[in-house]
Amino acid sequence: MIIDGHAHVYAEKNAERIISSFTDLHHMEPTPSLGKGTVPDLIEKMEAGNTDYTVLANFGPVKSVDRINEWTLAAAENFRRFIPLVSVYPGIEIKKLAGWFRRGAKGIKMHNGIQNFAPDDPGLRPVYAFCERYGIPITFHCGETSRVHLNEYTDIPCLMKAAEQYPGIPFVMTHLMAGDPETVYRAAETCPNIIFDTSITVTGERCIHRIHDDFWESDENTVRAFRKIGCRRIAFGSDYPFGNPVRDI
Ligand SMILES: [Zn+2]
Repeated sequence: MIIDGHAHVYAEKNAERIISSFTDLHHMEPTPSLGKGTVPDLIEKMEAGNTDYTVLANFGPVKSVDRINEWTLAAAENFRRFIPLVSVYPGIEIKKLAGWFRRGAKGIKMHNGIQNFAPDDPGLRPVYAFCERYGIPITFHCGETSRVHLNEYTDIPCLMKAAEQYPGIPFVMTHLMAGDPETVYRAAETCPNIIFDTSITVTGERCIHRIHDDFWESDENTVRAFRKIGCRRIAFGSDYPFGNPVRDI
């Protein structure tokens, strides 16, 4: 079975605008193979790559998170091979969060850089308590986006605070944690509750250039990381539409 653990899709009428405002803001260089970021385009890629399930790791600015979560859950209700994550913000009502999980959410996604709150913001404590109680995984964006350093919230020391404080929560660190290998190996050793995703670390096809500093500049380097960390803790992720799941697989 093949599961793509990391993709983004948007409503068809908004997809193009969202993707181009994202790439503009972060000075990325899209290539012609950049995905459309829509449900039909992603399903086409899943068929081409024999992907059984794809995890939707949608998020957005805090003011839009509720609406985005509702949209993501509806997308997964319409296509049962999507696994929906929901996003959060400090101070979110746990009753609301629990409702999303009753509707089918399977985990939480945070992009603390763009969403602009620290992973250890005291307003998130009830969220972590909820995740710890039910064994719910949390996916973090890791590293800078392109070479625009928005804040320190996606840097390894900041993310490690959460991972160390909540050993009962599985944390998925995207982009092999987007750090220099020695720091990443240390993090893997310190926190057995961390899982690493492969997105943008394998040279399947770069749909976008300069997504972040290329710590995993060669596949040899990436394979060494898989061996060192152990494949049981490596999750496949494409970061569609910014990566191509077909080529990465
Ligand atoms: Zn992503």
